[in-house]
Amino acid sequence: MDNLEAITQAITRRSGVFAPHAIIAADFNVSRSDNENRAKLNSAENVLLHVMETSESDGYYLLVSSHDERKVIAELGETGIIEKIISADEEISSLPGGYVYGGHISGKKSQVDRVYSRINSLNFVSGQEQAYFDWDYEKLSQRFYALSRFLSKRITPDFQSTSINWPIADNCEWICYFCPESLLPLRLYTLDEAKSSLSEIARFLERFHNGMHDRFEIFPNANDITAFLAFPQRSANGKIIPYNKAKEEGIFVADPIELVVALKQTLPKSEKRKIGTFLNPATFMRVVNDFEKIRPVLEDRFAQSPYANMFQPSLFRSPEKYFSTLFSPGGINRLYLGIEILDDFFAREVLGKPVTEVEKLRAIDYLLRDTRVEKVKLIVQYGFGKKIPTSAGIVDYDQILSTLERSAISLAQLTKRHNNGNSLRLTVEVSRYQPVEGTKMHQLRQRPEFTDYPDAEREAYLAREEKIFTDAFRGQWKHALRFDYHYALPIDAFRN
Ligand code: SF4
Repeated sequence: MDNLEAITQAITRRSGVFAPHAIIAADFNVSRSDNENRAKLNSAENVLLHVMETSESDGYYLLVSSHDERKVIAELGETGIIEKIISADEEISSLPGGYVYGGHISGKKSQVDRVYSRINSLNFVSGQEQAYFDWDYEKLSQRFYALSRFLSKRITPDFQSTSINWPIADNCEWICYFCPESLLPLRLYTLDEAKSSLSEIARFLERFHNGMHDRFEIFPNANDITAFLAFPQRSANGKIIPYNKAKEEGIFVADPIELVVALKQTLPKSEKRKIGTFLNPATFMRVVNDFEKIRPVLEDRFAQSPYANMFQPSLFRSPEKYFSTLFSPGGINRLYLGIEILDDFFAREVLGKPVTEVEKLRAIDYLLRDTRVEKVKLIVQYGFGKKIPTSAGIVDYDQILSTLERSAISLAQLTKRHNNGNSLRLTVEVSRYQPVEGTKMHQLRQRPEFTDYPDAEREAYLAREEKIFTDAFRGQWKHALRFDYHYALPIDAFRN
């Protein structure tokens, strides 16, 4: 085993990242026993490792190896922008959300410049990759300033701009107590409206990511992609019409398959892209179960599509056929299901999302068994507080803990059952509940019967709840479970 292979394996274990991966830059020509030139040795042992296709963010790790120890000193995303700078055993600088759109890098100039100068001192195997790291503090500041001026409310890239919201609908048909989306009525876009937001994304990519388009994840942002099938027409005043009234006068909303075709045509380099969107298990199962009734409306609707000749009439033969086309590897290949918690009482009474456990499990089984979807991510929440009033009385903390535990154990059994060998089709993403002003749950928290965590002990309470999940998933592949602390932060908090 040569040095490169050895360090790759060491770091792979250290960061919990599994193959496939590739080293894109390394210089390991100096032997460890070359004590005559320590400086040369240290500099030679900087390595940049590119990790791809993990369920955590893909990207680059800048590593240093001294004597027997190998350490990650910086994590960078797919576009080469620093996410985290780490020194020795502790993280010394994390460049958080505020850095994204606001154009400030919070006084870490020397660290940022040092990381890029280290990377650029390495010998790259590919000139193209070197361009990804052509940054320094000043350039990054200017880039984020320009980005914050360019962005509209419509398209919102993530920190690295590798994942971009593509708006195809506003709001949601559901009224979950915790969700700001539920405050206004659902409005699904027509194909022309969806194409117009797609053009804005194309302009964004052209201006800020020239030459790197193929690295992006596009996120068609509908709070339920299958709502387009449940409500295929929209009246002139924007009100949605259920499919059983769809023969009435109305404007057609986009069909999800049309959306995928429009995306591929506008951004042709998207072949290998991740395309992910939300799915509500209840709406999805309603469409699956009612497919026979919906089919004539969909066929009529699709016959008028500019893309009708690209598909066989058999597209609508069965829900399996339709969804296998929509969720094919070249179509929408990642689905995010808002599971929240696997407990009917808690879901209905506390979260105001009356989707039953049976509906959730059926939707997951159906997706993984009967469609070709590559990945399903289940979004789960915790961190609701200590005592919660409901119509059936107060839910106390012991009940909350045991509800979380039951839910975590069921979810862990589910991932175990569906993920075999190296395949990780089903994963769980756990988010801390964030109270958003104006929501029903925020109002519920103002009631005197509600008890929040004591401020000084908040983190300890949350850690205890997180442990319930890590315990339940013990023994499974690390990436079957992921904590996402930033999930519910309102995007406006990042704007200047
Ligand atoms: S949580 Fe999902 S289903 Fe509920 S209102 Fe929000 S977007 Fe809609």
